[in-house]
Amino acid sequence: MPETGPETFDIAIIGAGIAGASLAGELGDAARMVLLERESQPGYHTTGRSAALFSETYGPPAIRALSRASAAFFDAPPTGFAAAPLLSPRGVLMVARGDQLGLIEETLADPTTKGRFRRLDARAAGEMVPILRTDYAAAALYEENARDIDVHALHHGYLRRFKSAGGRIETDCEVRAVERVGERWHISTSKGDVAADIVVNAAGAWADELGQMAGARTIGLAPKRRTAMMISPPDGVDPSAWPMLVDIAEAFYMKPDAGKLLASPADETPSPPCDAQPEELDVAICIDRIMTACDIDVRHIDNRWAGLRSFVADKTPVVGFDDGVPGFFWLAGQGGYGIQTAPALARLAAALVREQPVPRDIADEGVDAVDLSPARLTAV
Ligand SMILES: Cc1cc2nc3c(=O)[nH]c(=O)nc-3n(C[C@H](O)[C@H](O)[C@H](O)COP(=O)(O)OP(=O)(O)OC[C@H]3O[C@@H](n4cnc5c(N)ncnc54)[C@H](O)[C@@H]3O)c2cc1C
Repeated sequence: MPETGPETFDIAIIGAGIAGASLAGELGDAARMVLLERESQPGYHTTGRSAALFSETYGPPAIRALSRASAAFFDAPPTGFAAAPLLSPRGVLMVARGDQLGLIEETLADPTTKGRFRRLDARAAGEMVPILRTDYAAAALYEENARDIDVHALHHGYLRRFKSAGGRIETDCEVRAVERVGERWHISTSKGDVAADIVVNAAGAWADELGQMAGARTIGLAPKRRTAMMISPPDGVDPSAWPMLVDIAEAFYMKPDAGKLLASPADETPSPPCDAQPEELDVAICIDRIMTACDIDVRHIDNRWAGLRSFVADKTPVVGFDDGVPGFFWLAGQGGYGIQTAPALARLAAALVREQPVPRDIADEGVDAVDLSPARLTAV
């Protein structure tokens, strides 16, 4: 950035995680744009810490609709977007103990996921994940269509698309102040100042802090820490063809990953926005739950990490122009679903930034801009 006089853009997007990157990639060459990221690596925070699952049955109804609307992009991204498929087969096996059988019936009765699950008895579940203890599982649901996402390929596909359309990415560039001056935004960063007609807030766990910098009302964003770790399967066991094993009440999960097992206690501990780190207690809880359900002796953790999943009260993303602050656009609150919904959310956000209607195929899945608008949260 130049030392003197702010360079002017049509749109400045703050945050180069999957939210900011995908919107930047979708907006393409429609505007002079800059993507501002505090870290030296885009994806350093939540985007680089996910479990990388795509499931059309996960999350509240708006998330499911956005995930369904994202499937076509994942299955057939634009030519040259990624060198390999973005999704690969995985499957999810949701296990229930005897005292959790009611949750199996509840899930099967849900009309929005009708036909997506197959009910299995304990023996059939054990055939899919042979270390599942026969005295633990009473029954299970199998979702065949759940798949692994190549998060790096998705994220970098969008960043490449943005750059090849002439967009600029500034890393190591912390936004410190955002001020409306006349018809424009003046953005002060650790690398100098820029000006823009529109500011997009894709700051992940920091979205409410950024909103407050710009003078917007809070959306009540609550970052919640989730812990993950890599453990080794029992000696001589290759788990690569197993489905992801998930407790039906989401008290833990375990997913094959490059010959190892990614495990999580599925914790949701409120946290201020920060570089989240795993707590020993959450790691211990995870190991205990996995060893109770599975025949595995976890003595060593290969790698552990934590990330912040940021939610507003209705667990639905926040997308749209702020109703009180002109030219300030929100793309936040993706919670635990920001990767699998990114393709549809980015297209939807790009349409709303351009003041166009929700794309037809996304609206056809039941997504309404009003349900995502920041106004639903900031109205007094
Ligand atoms: C353990 C775990 C498992 C998950 N599993 C899944 C899954 O299986 N499937 C799924 O779809 N989702 C999953 N998620 C959720 C998913 O990872 C998130 O929804 C998504 O990554 C959020 O993306 P984001 O771009 O909003 O946030 P981030 O990736 O955190 O990006 C926000 C960026 O904004 C930058 N920023 C903030 N403030 C400033 C500032 N002032 N100046 C400049 N830059 C700034 C930050 O540095 C950061 O890079 C999981 C999350 C976790 C933690």
